[in-house]
Amino acid sequence: MKYVDEYRDAALVHKLADAIKRAATRPWTIMEICGGQTHAIVKFGLDDLLPENITLVHGPGCPVCVTSAELIDQAVELTLQHNAILCSFGDMLRVPGNGIDLLTAKARGGDVRIVYSPLDAVGIAKANPTREVVFFAVGFETTAPANAMSVLLAARDAVPNFSILTSHVLVPPAMRALLGSPDNCVQGFLAAGHVCTIMGLDQYGPIARDYRAPIVITGFEPVDILEGILLCVKQLEAGRAEVENAYSRAVRPDGNLHARAIVDQVFEITDRDWRGIGVIPQSGLGVRSLYAAFDAARKFPLTSTASSTPTECISGEIMRGVKKPHDCPAFGTRCKPEHPLGAPMVSSEGACAAYYRYRSRALESVS
Ligand code: SF4
Repeated sequence: MKYVDEYRDAALVHKLADAIKRAATRPWTIMEICGGQTHAIVKFGLDDLLPENITLVHGPGCPVCVTSAELIDQAVELTLQHNAILCSFGDMLRVPGNGIDLLTAKARGGDVRIVYSPLDAVGIAKANPTREVVFFAVGFETTAPANAMSVLLAARDAVPNFSILTSHVLVPPAMRALLGSPDNCVQGFLAAGHVCTIMGLDQYGPIARDYRAPIVITGFEPVDILEGILLCVKQLEAGRAEVENAYSRAVRPDGNLHARAIVDQVFEITDRDWRGIGVIPQSGLGVRSLYAAFDAARKFPLTSTASSTPTECISGEIMRGVKKPHDCPAFGTRCKPEHPLGAPMVSSEGACAAYYRYRSRALESVS
């Protein structure tokens, strides 16, 4: 296979779906970690091709969705109270905090700018030497190298008015937290291929072994995802719990060693509060003290507030695989992309946004 289109080949998709039907003799629940995989599954109706005894549930792999309300409050505080230029990816602007979101902060005079790379934010800092410029560094292991690069670039070029507000989260600790929770329903994982492209595979073997859960490193196209499900089902049926790489065209066992070294140079592992889930020990990245001058959390006296989730938002249960978006009573009625109650309805990787966008059947069920 050479081109992306071949990973959407209808004949191959149906062949893989048939293979899954033949392989699955018992009920199995499989979680895809990444919000990009969730969107592909819902967009292409891949779950509708599966036999009834295979249940796909959607994991916490949307970085915007798991960023705590406290950090959004702090981003708002940075621009409204500390007069900083707050640079962010566009997804973050409409995510509710405990108070207002960043779009409202912008409407109230905050200097909030959408950028497409953290390096753009360094450029803005260079162009505005009398202003503080903060990049809202949100994401999993995939975005950590570029965010680390922005710190190294600012340090190299002596850009003292640049810093990052860090909300980095790590996939393997979240998988352990899910598998160890009392209401866990997940029996196997499709791990996020792009995360493994950076980090490699070595952290997944102990998880598969400790929790007897197969983990298949999976890509993002329909053929990738169905192949990942087939491999996962075959392992579950055979009583195996191993790490398999079904995304070998992008993932090497060691990942990207250069990117890993850059991440390790700038960041250290820390506890992280996951929105809707709570604090997961050692599940985030924070800026090392060596680069404290570029850490907005150290540079500014930011208010620490307890994060809260609207009581009717069940995003935590969705991201733990216990419920699905159309189980939420607010889905499609009080919660829509134009007036979201929770982050999963905002983000382009959020499960609620995927169901709202692609599932007319889900909309009918609540109308
Ligand atoms: S539909 Fe809205 S309120 Fe319900 S879980 Fe999703 S984001 Fe939260």
